[in-house]
Amino acid sequence: MAEGLTPVGCAEKIIAAGRTVVLTGAGISTAAGVPDFRGPKGLYVTRAYDPEKVFEIAAFDRDPGPFYQFSRDFLDTLGTIEPTFTHRFLAELEKRGKLDRIITQNIDGLHQRAGSRNVLPVHGDYTTARCRSCGRGCSGERLRNLMREHEIPPCGFCGGTLKPDVVFFGENVRFLAEAEAAARRSDLMFVLGSSLTVYPAAMIPHYAGGEVVVVNKGGVGIAAGKGVHLVDADLDGYFREVEKCLPRDGNRR
Ligand SMILES: [Zn+2]
Repeated sequence: MAEGLTPVGCAEKIIAAGRTVVLTGAGISTAAGVPDFRGPKGLYVTRAYDPEKVFEIAAFDRDPGPFYQFSRDFLDTLGTIEPTFTHRFLAELEKRGKLDRIITQNIDGLHQRAGSRNVLPVHGDYTTARCRSCGRGCSGERLRNLMREHEIPPCGFCGGTLKPDVVFFGENVRFLAEAEAAARRSDLMFVLGSSLTVYPAAMIPHYAGGEVVVVNKGGVGIAAGKGVHLVDADLDGYFREVEKCLPRDGNRR
């Protein structure tokens, strides 16, 4: 049975919780204008990117061109948008000592831009890069500068091909052990804007040490039941209501 949770009930849980952990997926960023990758209006469809060429590591090693074409498009889009209300709400909760950790499946860096510090990007992001040949790393800023000068950004040491630390198909998810440990430690876990269909990230809520609250527009791959609340709602609309129910600057730990 689907057991919802009112914004008032949600605020009460946040106040009562000792350790809150959040897992976020693409749905938290679509309201900001970050195109979903796979939906009917997703980047893959509207801009005709083939995910098997863009995010497939063997294809990247053969020809990194399609990935860098995608990345220029994606990073340009990111440059024109701002974090959503929900991104900023989560950053504020962390500042108030009410949020322990954000685990995100997104590669858009919007949590960090909203001011969140304890973020585990399990699918990586563009903040660091690495050479496919010699393994030496560089900053995301250097990568972006090189992307302006070169079609394919070269390693400064060996001339090999740089790749941002975005997790491709065929590569291991990052921070999985830390994410699992954070879930186990939590006594309240939110799953926001994720349909929980991409593994292994979708496994993380199953390790939750306490209650799980899933807020997503549309179906999710987890059943409501004891300790699992499903809320089918627009994230920003829902959390604007939750915020109104929280004490203004209260409950610092
Ligand atoms: Zn190199």
